[in-house]
Amino acid sequence: MTEKEVTEIRRHFPILERKVGGRRLVYLDNTATSQTPDSVVEAVVNGYTRTKANVHRGVHTLSQEATDLQEETRRRVRDHINARSEREIIFTRGTTDSINLVASSFGRRFRDGDEIILTVMEHHANIVPWQLIRSRTDVKLRVVDINERGELDLDQYRSLFNERTVMAAFCHVSNVLGTVNPVKEMTAIAHSHGVPVLVDGAQASPHLHIDVQDIDCDFYVFSSHKMYGPTGIGVLYGRESLLEEMPPYQGGGEMISHVTFEHTTYAELPFKFEAGTPDFVGIGAFVKALDFLRDTGLDNIEAHEEELLRYATKRLEAIPGMRIFGTAPCKSAVISFLVNDIHPYDLGMLLDKMGIAVRTGHHCAQPLMERLGIPGTVRASFAVYNTREEVNAFISALDRVLPILRG
Ligand code: PLP
Repeated sequence: MTEKEVTEIRRHFPILERKVGGRRLVYLDNTATSQTPDSVVEAVVNGYTRTKANVHRGVHTLSQEATDLQEETRRRVRDHINARSEREIIFTRGTTDSINLVASSFGRRFRDGDEIILTVMEHHANIVPWQLIRSRTDVKLRVVDINERGELDLDQYRSLFNERTVMAAFCHVSNVLGTVNPVKEMTAIAHSHGVPVLVDGAQASPHLHIDVQDIDCDFYVFSSHKMYGPTGIGVLYGRESLLEEMPPYQGGGEMISHVTFEHTTYAELPFKFEAGTPDFVGIGAFVKALDFLRDTGLDNIEAHEEELLRYATKRLEAIPGMRIFGTAPCKSAVISFLVNDIHPYDLGMLLDKMGIAVRTGHHCAQPLMERLGIPGTVRASFAVYNTREEVNAFISALDRVLPILRG
């Protein structure tokens, strides 16, 4: 993308004009959440000021308009990830909620001694929900390791499957290492053993084309707030035949067909899994984030971020004492690093004083930190609106703060 095109994109993100520490904000925490373009903000405002009425319940105009907006988003999400049907698109509160839904509902079929394959690079959201099953059923977690570049050991992955394996769940892109995993190949391996697959797409969906039919996974989950969309909304894609068999996750309004005190029948898909009032204003506005991704072009986004990743990596590698975690050739625009034995929090705090927003800590991946033998990292992550000048500002700030911290 040209500088002019990026400048034009930035005009739609007023928050990027903010000052922090007396300087223009340099926002490099996009892995945690990305900023929101004005088209999405306007859609939220419109949702509250023009069409706010509860969905699926009313015959009046506002309720029908609100319902239409929500269902339009469902169609657009289906197109965006190439699902077969809107029945396969469930709105949730986010990636975490989507995984909890699958673990809680699909997990009902697991039996004592069954095994779930995860990887060492998983976010806590793709670890803890599987552990919660243990309060009911004694499932075992089998964990795939990484090599020194932060890539999964596929031979080990293959070897973990046996007759007790009931699920494989792994991230498409690591939120710490940036590694893009070969999810299509991994899904084919699992399916050759008759094992269903959940892909955590939280870090892939803002950057990559997602085609759930091509991957052939059984579940794919992601969050709107990392895709330039509103907070508090997520998606669970599920293969229709599996969703049909799964029991509801939560009970309440919207998810029923008929209720008596003796017995309840449930609504059709996807509503069976959407109990209660959803964030329909946010869901309606999410369409504008999908428009933004489509109009900007995921290929353009990927190419621009890749260029920033290469440039920033080269500049960081020139800093003495620099250790970068995650150097896979197939990598998304996130750089986790440590410098000498400087504590990540100290570095993050001083960078913040200079207007640079990076994330520090374990990034909700404590088992990965343990595997790497470190307490945490500093993490800089890029989005389509970031620029080379911002990378330069980030490196200049490091050049100023590192001598202070080295003492
Ligand atoms: N999975 C991965 C790989 C993530 O990076 C994150 C958030 O950073 C999540 C899951 C959880 O997403 P959310 O907090 O939106 O539910």
